[in-house]
Amino acid sequence: MPLVDSHCHLDRIDLSEVGGSLDEALKEAREKGVTGFLCVDIDLDNFQDVLTIAEKYPDVWCSAGVHPLAKIAADQLDSDELKRLALSSDKVIAVGECGLDYYYDADTADNQRQIFEKQLKVACEIGKPVIVHTREAREDTLALLRKYVPQGLTGVLHCFTESLEMAEAAVDLGFYISFSGIITFRNAEPLREVVRRVPMDKILVETDSPYLAPVPYRGKSNQPKWVVEVAQWVADLKGIGFEQLGQATTENFRSLFKLPE
Ligand SMILES: [Zn+2]
Ligand SMILES: [Zn+2]
Repeated sequence: MPLVDSHCHLDRIDLSEVGGSLDEALKEAREKGVTGFLCVDIDLDNFQDVLTIAEKYPDVWCSAGVHPLAKIAADQLDSDELKRLALSSDKVIAVGECGLDYYYDADTADNQRQIFEKQLKVACEIGKPVIVHTREAREDTLALLRKYVPQGLTGVLHCFTESLEMAEAAVDLGFYISFSGIITFRNAEPLREVVRRVPMDKILVETDSPYLAPVPYRGKSNQPKWVVEVAQWVADLKGIGFEQLGQATTENFRSLFKLPE
């Protein structure tokens, strides 16, 4: 049965739990049924690390992009360089993660918007989807997506924690919504309602490891194998079987990132 961890940072997970090797971390995940991993870039300096991992394993892909909390000025981001990296290998299937995070850093909102917009332009120019990080920046995020959807922009709002209204607006724009271990947290009932309401053909699951370990591992350093826990919660909230959930989210992943069967 297929199941994809659509967002993990394999270059920064804690390997001490698995004998110090990424081979072992991935093997443990595969043994639990995980058949694919998207290793997400957070800035251009970090790109070579994620590409090296993606090129080493047939079931790992990667992205190229700059996180909203990366400490760079908008004019320091070289769009041509990003484009070159994003086109440097078939294993690079997305631009990101990029977006807006006013929760952790509202002071840099203007700079964040400029960096985000530059990456949306690159994504449109090269025809790759974007992985969007958005926190407490609903209107600004949607406004920028709306501006580029007519130019062919597609993508996913990853680690979704915002309102049902925002999820519905993003789905109307053709975007996917990815849920993480946050849906398992005790106080996350409003978010669980979002899971129930988002159409099944727009849902992805992720760990965002090493961050945000799901219940019952909350507080530990997250591992890609625990996407199984996230998937089980989504399946239960949707009232469908685990296998059906794995099948559907894997098809969504392949369709969004244009991967062959
Ligand atoms: Zn993120
Ligand atoms: Zn991330």
